[in-house]
Amino acid sequence: MSTNSPSVGRAGETGLGWPRRPKISRLLGWPFGSKTVDGEDSNSTDVSRGTSAAPGGGEVGNTASPEDVEPPAGTSAATVVEPAMPVTPSVPDDHPRENLADGNPSDGTAAEPTAATSSFTLPPNGAGEAPIAAEPVVRPRRAKLEIPASQASPPPVDADEGTTGPVSRGTGRRVEPMPAPESTRIIVVANQKGGVGKTTTSVNLAAGLALGGLEVLVVDLDPQGNASTALGIEHGQGVRGTYEVLIDGDEIADLVVDSPEAPGLKVLPATVDLAGAEIELVSVVARENKLKRALRSYLSEHPTDYVLLDCPPSLGLLTLNALVAAREVLIPIQCEYYALEGVSQLMTTIDLVMAELNDELQLSTVLLTMFDGRTRLASQVADEVRSYFSEQTLPTVIPRSVRISEAPSYGQTVITYHPDSAGAVSYLEAARELARRGVKENA
Ligand code: ADP
Ligand code: MG
Repeated sequence: MSTNSPSVGRAGETGLGWPRRPKISRLLGWPFGSKTVDGEDSNSTDVSRGTSAAPGGGEVGNTASPEDVEPPAGTSAATVVEPAMPVTPSVPDDHPRENLADGNPSDGTAAEPTAATSSFTLPPNGAGEAPIAAEPVVRPRRAKLEIPASQASPPPVDADEGTTGPVSRGTGRRVEPMPAPESTRIIVVANQKGGVGKTTTSVNLAAGLALGGLEVLVVDLDPQGNASTALGIEHGQGVRGTYEVLIDGDEIADLVVDSPEAPGLKVLPATVDLAGAEIELVSVVARENKLKRALRSYLSEHPTDYVLLDCPPSLGLLTLNALVAAREVLIPIQCEYYALEGVSQLMTTIDLVMAELNDELQLSTVLLTMFDGRTRLASQVADEVRSYFSEQTLPTVIPRSVRISEAPSYGQTVITYHPDSAGAVSYLEAARELARRGVKENA
């Protein structure tokens, strides 16, 4: 561990040993105020769930079991599990969705994968008894993963989320419109640690913003193509996308694909070829500017509110291209033991990029993810992050949620896969907070 890395758990230091970097907001030119939840929340607990109400009222807050995750100390419960906008069932006519009826089972016995039944073996329509509306539009589904019971995941942390069965995109939840920024916000979702929730955050915030009526582009910069998967985009061999933009100089406009997750949501897909780009770029002139140029050309003709850049788990040339192309950095931080390690290395990289390549770059947002309210450690990590990134950290915390991790296997975000789950509600709320901050910045 380098000397300036956060040394989690070292005895004698404050809390988790997170090294204080006073005045970091000044250092980074943080432009936003620390107050992020304003008076717009009159609807914050008003959830219209149509026919999908669970017994006992059907509000998300009512569906929790003792297993439910809790918000960290100092965080309003509303910021974690309560939705901030009415979510009403409706099916946008102009969007290719599977038109399944909103027929969630209300007996709480909906298909909840367990260790005994093995994960990812839900029936094709996603919800056992859910009736299918006449003539559904059938989209090819990716093959389900069949995991032998002996290898199946341990029981879910958030067993509460079985109160309504999985729903498919066809329920067409429409969310309250979100405010558009004055100019395009280009946000790089970065953290060189793998598995901290970069992709999950990118795709769910993107879907949330798009469902809020905004034009959103997700650029998949990870050769694994996880963002493409989660947004229902084909990214097998032969699909052209980020690689062709960076290496062949193709136009983004020619290669973006509409995601079936939400109207107004576009994706530049990534294939495994992108792994080669990291090496091929080394010998290219102005190699760190490729994405920036391509995006500038795209945005000049395609008005877009948000561009989210989903980075691979490294600080190589792909991430560098994203840091140069973006104006803001969003760091997802996992509320777990090693979460803080590496963040200081990322901060150093951001500082370097700001100094040498992109003086517009700002660390604007930190999102706490995979929060498990049953552990003190999660609260401690959350508190540490909040004290360190006090202005940047969004009030909403994303809970650890089985629904969130299941959604990609259906080529969906959790917001359409299980709109009532705590994970979906909190990602939607985080998207709303992000949108509000964008407006304040420009005000
Ligand atoms: P990264 O892009 O940083 O590598 P991912 O977004 O792919 O991380 O997340 C890593 C794994 O953790 C994935 O399997 C994802 O489904 C899962 N995951 C992400 N966020 C959550 C969450 N809040 N609760 C449970 N699982 C999560
Ligand atoms: Mg990823």
